[in-house]
Amino acid sequence: MEYNAVIVGAGPAGIFAALILADHGVDRVLLLEQGKDLNQRNHKSPEERLCGWGGAGAYSDGKLNLSTEIGGVLREFIPEKTLHELLEATDKVYVDHGAPDRIFGESSAQVEDLALRAKIAGLELIPSRIRHMGTENCKDILGRFRESLQGRVETRTETKAKLLLVERDRIRGVLLDSGEEILARCVIAAPGRSGAAWMKEQAEALGLGTKPTSVDIGVRVELPAPVFKEITDTTYESKLIHYSKTFDEKVRTFCMNPYGEVVTEENAGIITVNGHSYAGKRSENTNFAILVSSAFTEPFDDPIAYGRYIARLANLLGGGVLVQRLGDLLAGRRSTTERLGRCLTRPTLPDATPGDLSFVFPYRHLLSIIEMLQALEKIAPGVYSRHTLLYGVEVKFYSYRIDVSLEMETAVKDLFTIGDGAGITRGLLQASASGIVAAKAIARRLKGH
Ligand SMILES: Cc1cc2nc3c(=O)[nH]c(=O)nc-3n(C[C@H](O)[C@H](O)[C@H](O)COP(=O)(O)OP(=O)(O)OC[C@H]3O[C@@H](n4cnc5c(N)ncnc54)[C@H](O)[C@@H]3O)c2cc1C
Repeated sequence: MEYNAVIVGAGPAGIFAALILADHGVDRVLLLEQGKDLNQRNHKSPEERLCGWGGAGAYSDGKLNLSTEIGGVLREFIPEKTLHELLEATDKVYVDHGAPDRIFGESSAQVEDLALRAKIAGLELIPSRIRHMGTENCKDILGRFRESLQGRVETRTETKAKLLLVERDRIRGVLLDSGEEILARCVIAAPGRSGAAWMKEQAEALGLGTKPTSVDIGVRVELPAPVFKEITDTTYESKLIHYSKTFDEKVRTFCMNPYGEVVTEENAGIITVNGHSYAGKRSENTNFAILVSSAFTEPFDDPIAYGRYIARLANLLGGGVLVQRLGDLLAGRRSTTERLGRCLTRPTLPDATPGDLSFVFPYRHLLSIIEMLQALEKIAPGVYSRHTLLYGVEVKFYSYRIDVSLEMETAVKDLFTIGDGAGITRGLLQASASGIVAAKAIARRLKGH
């Protein structure tokens, strides 16, 4: 049998593609997922947290970001107004499947005032409207998507696509790990971050155009919650962007956790830092990342290796994550357990090794981070205090970006690629929206609507 469409990957991107194809009456659709089915996934296994029906979305923080500027580069494909409408429509599908009604960060006089003050301080405030599903609700909502596809789309879990089959520049189907060949008129590859290496291999084998990825490197900042209270009370999760004075590099805040905790995470053998906050448990601190986005000079094109190298340096020096008081960094000395003992900010990650981040970061990164902290001081006095803690390294890796058309089609006819694995998105809502774009294009081709 020839399928009309085969979708590789049952994360938010693939699930939304499947829903839209079914809603448009496209039959013979197969959704392939290498991991386990939703209810069989074990949240304790690092691999199963990312792979399985629901993708990385199943154990995500569940924040649906409605801003067109956050969570991907769909803005480069879709005009602003249309993208805004698309994200609203995508969000509505989540609400129809059980996401809570409430939206945080709606525009208000306080947000406008903060944006104005940020501008004077040399910062751009990106207002972000967020629907917070809550980690604990993600699985239930995905379960409703699963039910809604029942009987309309064939699903095979624990089935890995090995190769994309192409004949004369046109997709023919996929070859499974088991050796089975599946023929299809259209294929949508939606393998997510966990399948990004597979996607890159396929793109190279098929001669698809790719753009080098980027890496964002920086620190996790921790300070007493009152210092940032006005900001975190006004905007649920503010994104502030600064172009550093000396290097004119883009520096931004990321993943703000009021009353949260700093945590470590393991990234393919490297220990990096992150942060989170609980709904029902509060620390006395707020933490957020300051990340520097670097534009590398040619011929270098392996930012992932660069990011790993920097993170490994911190591990080499501290056996894991390093922590330093801003005052010590500025005075050119390492932090010690004794000095940390005199710090007014009590670290929520006691395992971090007191050390010296200037041994880890290149000069341009360190200076850009310091200049960002100076700019933040103007809107939140107390940020540039010697008692502010800096943990390193925080690093965000992104997938290689595959060249696609406005419909998310690659240079191979009827082969589409969407979501985080194609390097087009970095968040739940844009990943889901990219699935809608590809599925509508396929429905138009197959059904004429
Ligand atoms: C801890 C964590 C928290 C997050 N929190 C948020 C948040 O609060 N808000 C937000 O917007 N985003 C968040 N994200 C990011 C978000 O989860 C992703 O942006 C989103 O899931 C991307 O969707 P996707 O469908 O492109 O990929 P994924 O969700 O990664 O799904 C891809 C699926 O494809 C499968 N696959 C890969 N290769 C193959 C193959 N060859 N054959 C068959 N199947 C394959 C994988 O097993 C996987 O299940 C978070 C991510 C993590 C890891």
